[in-house]
Amino acid sequence: MPTVLAIHAHPDDIETLAAGTLALLSAKGVRVVIATLTAGECGAVNDEPEATARVRRAEAAAAAALIGADYLCAGLPDLGVFNDDRCRRAATELIRGARPDLVLGPSPADYHPDHEAGSLLVRDGCFAASAPGYRAGTAQPLDAIPHLYFVDPVGGRDREGRPVAPEFAVDIGSVMAVKREMLRRHQSQVDWLLKQHGMSDFTAGMEAQSRKRGREFGVAFAEGFRQYRHTPYPRDPRLQTLLGEILTSTGA
Ligand SMILES: [Zn+2]
Repeated sequence: MPTVLAIHAHPDDIETLAAGTLALLSAKGVRVVIATLTAGECGAVNDEPEATARVRRAEAAAAAALIGADYLCAGLPDLGVFNDDRCRRAATELIRGARPDLVLGPSPADYHPDHEAGSLLVRDGCFAASAPGYRAGTAQPLDAIPHLYFVDPVGGRDREGRPVAPEFAVDIGSVMAVKREMLRRHQSQVDWLLKQHGMSDFTAGMEAQSRKRGREFGVAFAEGFRQYRHTPYPRDPRLQTLLGEILTSTGA
């Protein structure tokens, strides 16, 4: 069975955007690794980033463990993810370390600078990971470029509010309870999301987005994806084939 690596910028992003799909893959016997570029140390109402980083790494590992997934963190600074040399080497080392066949990465357009820069780093890290001459860390280069997919942006929209349409969606109705439990492992986010985002129920955004995608595809809950197919990335529908029943057109 292949390995699927889901990378995003902060702990709780993947739980919000792709945990249902990862739960389905894990249940099929696929090895799943969840990784974040940062530990999300700025996502707290206190001013002790080191302590926040420890808490959030532990929460992310606990969430991943619910579906039998491993958790990795590249340790880049929160709000300090840039499309630069240092960050690209860190992303490449992360990808090489996980040995993925498929990678799920952040949407190129999203609400947060770490998400948008992280999308470029994951895209280009997948390319660099199989280049033997590219020095990153101690992990061995990959044999080939992995299949690359972008998850939906938070809220399904870009910064101007325009909808970002997925290419296909995955029906996550059967694993919605697992997805909720994974997100609830990020309990440190309750106070932060109330302060910074004005959200009194920190799972409400995930719930609404999953329901909206589901409505668009004629099911109760769904997650959307786009495959990156530019040369020389693999173009065959490997994730779609792994998942089987893929939703490819809007229901209504
Ligand atoms: Zn984030």
